Amino acid sequence: MNKQQTIKSEVSFSGIALHTGARASLTIKSAPENTGIIFKRIDLPGAPEVKAIATNVVDVRRGTTLASGEGKVYTVEHVMAPLHALNIDNAIIEMDGMEPPISDGSALEYFTAIKDAGTIVQDAEAQYISPREPIFFEYNGTKMFCRPADELRIDCVTDFNSKDFGTQYMDIVIDTESFENEVCSARTFVEYKDLGMLLQMGLCQGGSLDNAAIIHNGAIVCKESLRFHNEIVRHKVLDLVGDLYLCGCRVNAHIIAIKPGHPTNVQLAQLIMKQYS
Ligand SMILES: [Zn+2]
Repeated sequence: MNKQQTIKSEVSFSGIALHTGARASLTIKSAPENTGIIFKRIDLPGAPEVKAIATNVVDVRRGTTLASGEGKVYTVEHVMAPLHALNIDNAIIEMDGMEPPISDGSALEYFTAIKDAGTIVQDAEAQYISPREPIFFEYNGTKMFCRPADELRIDCVTDFNSKDFGTQYMDIVIDTESFENEVCSARTFVEYKDLGMLLQMGLCQGGSLDNAAIIHNGAIVCKESLRFHNEIVRHKVLDLVGDLYLCGCRVNAHIIAIKPGHPTNVQLAQLIMKQYS
């Protein structure tokens, strides 16, 4: 049996956050077995903790926001995804603001630093969750299918109605190595037509070509060249790996996700958990 793991030495990050535009720092620290992943807002009185679990999700517009009591943390998915892929079961993530730094819009910096920090194997057995029954649902043009499996396999499709990158597809079994090579460096995308609305909603305040690529008139605008020909769908897989970790433990499932987003990723995590409640 696999054992639970935590991070060996603490790692810190700082920089601009995507949606709030605020500067923030974040430190990932080791935690005892059966702690799970906990965000801690050390800038607030009493340093409230927010457990990274799907029942604590309060907002899914353009990012996954968690809240519990006085604590609230925005856009957790790019931190959660590498923790999931690296099998870090237990960690305390101290933050001095409400949103993690966006870095380059991918999970590369988080993944590399957490991997380099190393892991401590703990005594307790690692917990896995797999759906007991197949799950299917549709929402707003998204279709999600999920069935039991003994690994995390994701088939993902995106479609942006462009002749250059119209339909993108990825079929991947997620483990530390495949996530590192195929997923973690894929960057965030935003559609130009949505930018005005997002800014009006108070989102994307820290967005720039340093941390996001923009889809406009059937073309992709970004600072450097694309990292993968199908970078969009790879980033969708990244978000899904992060959001699924809100099941509270490692996930074993085969998921077919057609045009997924945070609302449906989180709904899937909640539906898997519900089968055990
Ligand atoms: Zn993302």
